[in-house]
Amino acid sequence: MRFAFGGIHIECSTYSRIRSRTEDFTVLAGEELSDAPKFVFLRSYSHPFFPTLYASAVPGGPVERATYESFKAKFLQSLKPLLPLDGLYLPMHGALYVEGMQDAEGDWISAARQVVGDDCLISASYDLHGNLSRRVIDNIDMLSAYRTAPHIDVQETMQRAAEMLLHCSSMRLRPSLVWVPVPVLLPGERTSTEDQPAKALYAQLAPMNAKPGVLDVSLLVGYVWADEPRATASVVLTGTERPTLEREAMRVAQQYWDAREDFKFGVPVGSIAELLDQARTITTQPVILADSGDNPTGGGVGDRAEVLELLLRRNFTNALVAGIADLPATELCYQRSPGSKLGLRIGASLDPQGSRAIEAEAEVLFLLPTDNPRERQAVVRINGITVVLTAARRPFHDISDFTRLQLHIPSFKLLVVKSGYLSPELAPLANPNLMALSDGSILQDLDRLPRNEFRPPTFPFDRSFRWQPSTIVSARSPQEPL
Ligand SMILES: [Zn+2]
Repeated sequence: MRFAFGGIHIECSTYSRIRSRTEDFTVLAGEELSDAPKFVFLRSYSHPFFPTLYASAVPGGPVERATYESFKAKFLQSLKPLLPLDGLYLPMHGALYVEGMQDAEGDWISAARQVVGDDCLISASYDLHGNLSRRVIDNIDMLSAYRTAPHIDVQETMQRAAEMLLHCSSMRLRPSLVWVPVPVLLPGERTSTEDQPAKALYAQLAPMNAKPGVLDVSLLVGYVWADEPRATASVVLTGTERPTLEREAMRVAQQYWDAREDFKFGVPVGSIAELLDQARTITTQPVILADSGDNPTGGGVGDRAEVLELLLRRNFTNALVAGIADLPATELCYQRSPGSKLGLRIGASLDPQGSRAIEAEAEVLFLLPTDNPRERQAVVRINGITVVLTAARRPFHDISDFTRLQLHIPSFKLLVVKSGYLSPELAPLANPNLMALSDGSILQDLDRLPRNEFRPPTFPFDRSFRWQPSTIVSARSPQEPL
């Protein structure tokens, strides 16, 4: 048997004014793709998985049309010489948004289907913050989505998707795929699988997966910062016992709907000003304050300086802000050496309409040695506040993101990160963790988001509509229940 794999993986806020372009993506192909740590597991199977193209990026704004078209063309081009194929594995995110397109994954996946033909099975893996559509469902045979947020089961999910494909191909079996969209959209920060009610909703998926005739059970929260017709939560089951799949999918969908009012933030939230007041009174450290509206790992821009501005105005000291994406300010620091002082304009460098810059006198503390200008990071001090400036948009999620800048988190009273829920490495350090419902392209305070333009009635944007679950079966599935 012969298999291929590849895809595109990015999460895009339709509310963002910046564009994701070719230079923002890491593109892997050929041996480099097969050897990538994320995909090396595919080499352990006794049937070959041939690499095509895999483009991935830090979440952000809509993908520029030409960038998308070029990736898609290269992906399809590398798929053609591999035919005939028994199966295709698509590692996708599900919240791709391309300029002028409202179902970009649907476009990508249906184009792949046309190339591989009807006899080839397609298995997709998705982030649980992905959105589905009829077009996606009708072109795939099976799907697996993450079951944890923060995501600690990425590898496990990818293996489930690949092994389901191997299993069905070797059994010469075309499974049924059943989808129940649920018109509820909530941020990941209210649907973390570490907090109730998501914790209990997700805990039942693995045991359900063990039932006879069930190959996969997926529950997707969806992506709320996508004003698209397809944006919803979803329950998707893959398997051979269609009555079981339909029954279980309806049951989980109804449970999710019934719990819709119970999803709450897992940590104290408020405005930046309120939380800084609170932080002042806390005697433990480090307090970790998440600047959630500008979180680049959820699709925020990452260039805003509001928290820094307020820290300066209130004469905070011993605070660390990591980081602010600001290429011009970072470049200016690299023209100096540690110890020197300079005037900087910080903030609003990527989206000048979104926020405003501040002017400050800064001392350069540390410059990350690197040959890649996009990797540049400068640590500066402004009136007792340590600030990390970065050339490119990037997260600060791992301890090593700080130690390589010679920063020791526990020695700060307050750490400000552009994040939503904290990463698995930062969360245990927070003493305590607060989350600001700050402005940005992934504003968590949904009441302040612009009204739906393209989404059908969806909770919590609309509360006055009635809903009952109903199943949508993939056009690929056997027509009669088995
Ligand atoms: Zn996610």
